[in-house]
Amino acid sequence: MTKKIDATPKEHIGSLLHSVRFRLVLWFTVILAIILFAFSAFLFYTQSRNLQAEAVHELDRRVTSLLEFVQSALSQGIGQISLPHGLLRDTDVFILVSPDGQVLASQGPIPAQQVLQLVSAGLQSNPRAGEGSVVYWTSTSSQNYLFIPTQVHNQMGMDLVVIFGGILDPGALVNRFLFTLIIGSLLTLLIAVIGGFWLADRAMRPVKTITQAARAISETDLSLRLNLKNKDELGELANTFDAMLARLQAAFERQRQFVADASHELRTPLTIVNLETSRALETHRSQPEYQHALKIIRAENDFMTSLVNDLLVLARMDAGQTAMEKNPLDLSDLVVDTIERLTPLAVRNGVTLQAGNLPETYILGDRQYLLQMLSNLVENAIKYTTGEKKLVSAETGSADGTTWVRVSDTGPGIASEDIPHLFDRFYRVDKARTRDTESEDDPTLPSGSGLGLSIVQWIVQAHGGEIHLESTLGIGSTFEVRFKTP
Ligand code: ADP
Repeated sequence: MTKKIDATPKEHIGSLLHSVRFRLVLWFTVILAIILFAFSAFLFYTQSRNLQAEAVHELDRRVTSLLEFVQSALSQGIGQISLPHGLLRDTDVFILVSPDGQVLASQGPIPAQQVLQLVSAGLQSNPRAGEGSVVYWTSTSSQNYLFIPTQVHNQMGMDLVVIFGGILDPGALVNRFLFTLIIGSLLTLLIAVIGGFWLADRAMRPVKTITQAARAISETDLSLRLNLKNKDELGELANTFDAMLARLQAAFERQRQFVADASHELRTPLTIVNLETSRALETHRSQPEYQHALKIIRAENDFMTSLVNDLLVLARMDAGQTAMEKNPLDLSDLVVDTIERLTPLAVRNGVTLQAGNLPETYILGDRQYLLQMLSNLVENAIKYTTGEKKLVSAETGSADGTTWVRVSDTGPGIASEDIPHLFDRFYRVDKARTRDTESEDDPTLPSGSGLGLSIVQWIVQAHGGEIHLESTLGIGSTFEVRFKTP
């Protein structure tokens, strides 16, 4: 177990800054900020125009009602004009001026004289301006006033001037709107950051689980699984990870079993060699006794040599270090070669080794490997064939795009429960029988370690072929290897 050392705050911040969570939130926030800015800018542009128009309209409405009121009051000959409550706003200014400049009525926060001065100055500064022209003025409290002088007539037909002053300041409203937009956007961003972190944290939690589990897995204990039940992408990743672990575990297990079996296989011949040498050396022996001991030692040595060779072949196959040179080959030619090479062994075993039908059939393959495959099959057939009529035959043929080779024997056959395991490494149907026959009756007989058929299967598969076995107990077995005809 690795001991977890507490990270310093600096390391903590460092790891946070490099985390996917942080980057996700950062990108999310930046994109949201851009969207918010664009949206606010659009809203601000359209809304400020609307507010401006709204303010002008509102002012216009007040001027119209003021003029209507004053005009009707003057028409009725009312001298003392007092405006009804609510007609104007508190900030609005109203002044009624006689033709000689006398202020007849006034209302509002700005002194009438000041308004008169402003209006007359404004009108004078613009020589073309007549009555009704507007005058803009910014008060000391930074409020933009708009003064509108309008000519009215009283009952006697005298020209009077009504000056209306009102604040035309959509700016305040616009500013308030801008402020709301900024605060709203900032709040949205803040919530987005907090929510984003929360979401990213939740989304990344399975990753943490995976990391912790991966940390806890050591090569000696591959049994740990993540077992993440999520149906999302991370669940899929965890499942893939679990499947990979299962494959690794199986591979490690196979490897361990392979080494254990190999050591076990080597232990018996080494013990026999040790026993035989100790027995021979114990006391003075006759020459036939020495010869017998040496024969046994040689047989065990042969067994170990072939075992080590087989192990080497399998190790190379497992490591993918087998370079195959595939050429068009006549399968019957390979069968003939194998029969010729193994005839002495068959003779020694009292087995009749015969070639069956051998028409020319071509396949694409590696000569050396295919010869080894055929040797293993024929050697097995010779090795395990017992009884009266000892016959082993090999034949080839092709039909429907398939080329095949068959090796048949009149041996003991293989029980159906053994067939599924037959191609497993180190699997032997009857371990005792194999070794007894070798060492006692004929020590020169090829020894069996249970690797031959695994190698055969590997070679067949490497050529894209299939191997089938038909066997009847007490009658014999037929191994058939099928290849695709090129
Ligand atoms: P071995 O090196 O022991 O022969 P193989 O992998 O070649 O190992 O074969 C595995 C087992 O299958 C053998 O131990 C034997 O019991 C059985 N077997 C293989 N070929 C035959 C056969 N032709 N007839 C009967 N049994 C066979």
